[in-house]
Amino acid sequence: MSDRIIFLGTAGARFVVTSQIRASGGMWFTLEGTNLYLDPGPGALVKCRSKREKLDPAKLDGIILSHRHLDHSSDVNIMIEAMTKGGFERRGKIFAPVQALEDDPVILRYVRDYVEEVVTLREGGSYQVGEVEFTTPIRHIHGNAETYGVNFRSPSFTISYITDTKFFPELIGHYRGKFLIINVVRLKPSDLDHLCLEDAERIINEVQPRLAVLTHFGMTMIRAKPWELAADLSQRTGVEVIAARDGMIIELEKWKEEGD
Ligand SMILES: [Zn+2]
Repeated sequence: MSDRIIFLGTAGARFVVTSQIRASGGMWFTLEGTNLYLDPGPGALVKCRSKREKLDPAKLDGIILSHRHLDHSSDVNIMIEAMTKGGFERRGKIFAPVQALEDDPVILRYVRDYVEEVVTLREGGSYQVGEVEFTTPIRHIHGNAETYGVNFRSPSFTISYITDTKFFPELIGHYRGKFLIINVVRLKPSDLDHLCLEDAERIINEVQPRLAVLTHFGMTMIRAKPWELAADLSQRTGVEVIAARDGMIIELEKWKEEGD
């Protein structure tokens, strides 16, 4: 499969997830032949196996949890089972913060034996799966959930994923990928530990990625039509900004040819 990112869900926050106004399955990355699953929320397995997507979790090389909240982790156990063919083939790596592994574990202990390795994510950590290197540069501010965003690096691409967090200025310097994925839960600023549209604009302006993708929408974002908000942001920042849709595929090859 060519290098791509598949959005198997674009829902964020409890109401949109529990009502399934948008799907909440997380993201599938294929980079240099390595397959990684990020934040398998409710419906991840069902979305993979749907007629439309036809993705085989037994081809995954790793699963990453940015934090333990259910909209990022609820399908992790069944995805591990699917990745390892029911636990009969020991393969793949799991990455999660220590809180998701030890304090209030969202990954069941018995499925941990199915995988090759369980790796604890830490602030400033760097990791390798197949041809892909990734780092978790800084701990986010996200309630009491230990949370890390991710920078992916393959021979051809740098991709930054800014997962759930309250805005704080240091965030910007740590995520400089040419492709920038931002979880934008809220339309307006709030006391909740989530980014809002204004925060996303500030980040995009400073980072100036080649492409920015907004996702993980709460109700206020959905009501305001994320695709229109993204078009406005493109105008204001001069950066191509798109709003993720359920099932959206970003073919990275196209961007490689244009840029490098
Ligand atoms: Zn969260």
